[in-house]
Parts: sequence; structure tokens; C-alpha cells
Amino acid sequence: MRVDKLPHIWCAGCGDGSVTAALIRAIDKLKIQRDDVAVITGIGCSSRVNNILDFNTFQTLHGRAVAYASGFKMAKPQMKVIVVTGDGDGAGIGGNHLIHAARRNIDLTVILINNKIFGMTGGQFSPLTPYGAVASTAIYETIEYPFDVCKLMEASGATYVARGTVYHLSLTEKLIAQALEHKGFSFVEVITQCPTGFGKRNKMPDPYDLLMWQKENSVHVDQVGKYSAEELKNKHIIGELFVSNDRMEFTEAYEQLKERARLSAKGGGNK
Ligand code: SF4
Repeated sequence: MRVDKLPHIWCAGCGDGSVTAALIRAIDKLKIQRDDVAVITGIGCSSRVNNILDFNTFQTLHGRAVAYASGFKMAKPQMKVIVVTGDGDGAGIGGNHLIHAARRNIDLTVILINNKIFGMTGGQFSPLTPYGAVASTAIYETIEYPFDVCKLMEASGATYVARGTVYHLSLTEKLIAQALEHKGFSFVEVITQCPTGFGKRNKMPDPYDLLMWQKENSVHVDQVGKYSAEELKNKHIIGELFVSNDRMEFTEAYEQLKERARLSAKGGGNK
């Protein structure tokens, strides 16, 4: 932690600090050395974790963290490369980068902190804002439907997909640790509270209201069978949602490709 950078910029009651703490604890529990970790962010409240984290960190352009992280991982495949992003930065502006990094199964861990709004840039609705919510760009309620970013990641080729919430923080910490241990593209969505940009406009001005909303609207994946499709509508399914080891990790595939090319150039290799 870069204590010289404190106090942080987050509003009172914001969930970003809780997710940051869960990430630090997960790295600590796995005994990953500080110098072996790179945390790459874009723009937005969640991306400001880099102000206070004492790893190799860099903050990039809005929506471009996954692209920078992919390049970084190719150059330093031995490092644990983590992207911390938000729903606006990661699923909105950077959505295309997210899809293609998942498709390649490159060994990144993306933690998408979903506060359901563009917080820092003024409370505009994001692709993950619930239908009917109020935002600075939807003062009469948004008429756009959100997508399920975890389903999108699974469909795109991610090999570890999970969802937690700030309310269920110990579960979230466990999921982040599992994602960090996974070889391949791992994705953890963390539902968080933004009392300033989202809560105040949506009749939940107190962070406590938003935490209770997370609690009441989350169902653990192991409990899904107890509910009807109607009851599960608009609920967050939390826990480990998808794990697969049937795709080669991209930097490894690239090393093999280089070897084939080297042998081919010498005239004795794979055509
Ligand atoms: S605007 Fe929302 S997400 Fe940003 S720091 Fe404030 S509470 Fe947190």
C-alpha cells in the first residue's frame, strides 16, 4: 500500500476500497511476490486502485487497460498481470478488448468492479445499468437493457468466470484468489455500491441500502435450483460460474508457435 498517496479519492461508503482489500489479501494468501504482480487500469473510480497499490502499476487510457495488459503479458509472461476495471471502462468503452482477450485465453485476471454506472465521469448509464434505473443521461429512467457480462465472458472463451459482491466479500476474496491461480483468462465481476453516482439517483442514498440490495438480489450458484426462472429474473448469480482447462493459454501457444517457426526456418521443423 502506498501510504504516501492516502487519503484515497473514493467517496464515503464506496465499495472500491473493499474490493481493493480483497485483492490485496488474495495476493498475500497466495504468497505472490509484490514485484511479480502488475496491476493495469483504465479510467474511472475503480481504476484509481493504482494510486494506492504498491505493485508494478500503470494507468492507461479509458477502456484500454485489457489491451495494454495483453501487450504487457506477452512481454513478461512470467508475471501475474491483473486488470482492475469498471462496468463503464471495461464492459462499455473497452468491451471489445475484453471479448478478444477472453477469446485468446491470455493469462490475465480481470476484476470488473460493477457499480452499475459511470461514477467518476458523472453518473451516465453504462451497459450494465439495470433497466429502469435513473442516471445523469437517463433522467426519466434508462430504456436500455443490460447484458450479463459473465455470460458474455464465458461465450467469448474465458476459462474462469465468477461473480461476487461487496456484501459477500469473503466469497469475493476466495473467487479472486481462484482466478489468480487459474492459468488462462480469468474474469471476476464484483457488484459494488456507488452511493454517489447510482444510489442517490435510485432511492438508495445510504451505502447500507445498496449493500442490503446486493444481499437481497444475489443467489449463490449452488442454490439456483431452488428458485423459479421468474424468481431469478434480475438476480445476481454469485460464485464460481464457469471453469475450463480445455484451451491452451495464449502466451504458451505463442512460445510453441515461435519454436515451430524457428525449426521451420532451419529446415527441419513443422510445416
Ligand atoms: S462516484 Fe461512486 S464509484 Fe466513484 S468513488 Fe464515489 S461512490 Fe465510489
